[in-house]
Amino acid sequence: MNLSPNNPILLSSSLHVDEARKAIAQLVAELISESRLTQSPTDIETVSLDQAINRVLALDVLSPIDVPSADNSAMDGFAFNGQCLDSQSPEISLRVIGTAFAGKPYTGVIGQGECLKIMTGALMPSHCDTVIPQEFTESEDQVVIRFKQNQVKPGENRRLRGEDLEKGKPAIVAGRLLRPSDLGLAASLGIAQLQVHRKLKVAILSSGDELRSLGQPLDSGSIYDSNRYSLTGLLNRLNMDIIDCGIVRDDPASLKEAFCKAAQKADVLISSGGVSVGEADFTKQIMQELGDVGFWKIAMRPGRPMAFGTLKPVPGKSPARKTLFFGLPGNPVAVMVTFYQFVRAALLQLNGASQTEAPLTQAISETSIRKKPGRTEFQRAILGPGPDGRPTVRLTGSQGAGILRSMSEANCFVILHHDQGNIAAGDWVDVALFDGLL
Ligand code: AMP
Ligand code: MG
Repeated sequence: MNLSPNNPILLSSSLHVDEARKAIAQLVAELISESRLTQSPTDIETVSLDQAINRVLALDVLSPIDVPSADNSAMDGFAFNGQCLDSQSPEISLRVIGTAFAGKPYTGVIGQGECLKIMTGALMPSHCDTVIPQEFTESEDQVVIRFKQNQVKPGENRRLRGEDLEKGKPAIVAGRLLRPSDLGLAASLGIAQLQVHRKLKVAILSSGDELRSLGQPLDSGSIYDSNRYSLTGLLNRLNMDIIDCGIVRDDPASLKEAFCKAAQKADVLISSGGVSVGEADFTKQIMQELGDVGFWKIAMRPGRPMAFGTLKPVPGKSPARKTLFFGLPGNPVAVMVTFYQFVRAALLQLNGASQTEAPLTQAISETSIRKKPGRTEFQRAILGPGPDGRPTVRLTGSQGAGILRSMSEANCFVILHHDQGNIAAGDWVDVALFDGLL
């Protein structure tokens, strides 16, 4: 399928969200391969571990050491040579000749009939290959311990050198959106710096004559521009560099100027407003001059109209790369829904992340929900444990596309898929949690 944003299928009046997502992913993949041709030394940065959270790893981290670096005990207990487990007697009795602590190895020799008290993480002494956990042993005098032969097999409760990770093998693979555990893992290998993709520069602007900035008086018919603030929050969660291009009036010259300025500096431009039926023709005209942008009517609620494509590199831009463009609908909830559904994955993909899909879970709907098959709906809801402890969702009141309060009170979207119809109370539904997402 031709996935250019202006393909007639994509412009059809009921574009399936999955088709839209596929087309976006395809276009982003093309942009990535084009930008490889204009690779710049600043595309990859070296950052210290304390700066690396939520960045995308650009090169595999290869382990410089074996992990663990030597055989050690997996339990608190007693280390001994497992050969003695061959004996006929059901009970083994060993004399304790010393203690090995983590960081303080025992260097003496452990002979037949002897064992060593050993702590978790302490190096296994030479000639010992087995650890009997403390709780399986008995001792009257702390000098001789006894345990049943069938409670341990030779070689058990010992962690082998290189068992977790062999020297030279990848410990963290390129494309990982770095989480706290990855930073800990790098530190455990003695690695203090990581190579990450540079942050994407994302320009945002709001279009509409009715919009006022915070601090300005609200005259009749005007409203405060809230979209730039929700978008700033969303982009900060994804660790993007934000270029705030402010509010742009609904006139072709101002819009064109603002778009050109944004395209000069940004990898991605996200605008809101000006793509609904009444206004799209006017925006379309400008877009035809500036790039390759389709005006899609997606079968979803909220967020039906959306413009998507690329803006040509503005003369003088270096490197001469296109700017990915999302023209989101103006309604405040629709902005957040379309960001979640389309923009988030595209930004992660463009930034080199390998995992771009947001996780879904399931919960029981507390009430019935009306739903027409033929479009995907994103309802705002609160997920929590129901009376019987099972995960339950409850919608947050009126679901109008402009009602941001429904979003503010919610902690998740209930996602009602394209072919789904009405939901009865007690039905399981798909849920996407905001935490970590929005
Ligand atoms: P539009 O897509 O431009 O037709 O806008 C749809 C609705 O969203 C209208 O009611 C606009 O007033 C409202 N809207 C557009 N942009 C914003 C914004 N930045 N902040 C708050 N509301 C907006
Ligand atoms: Mg408007």
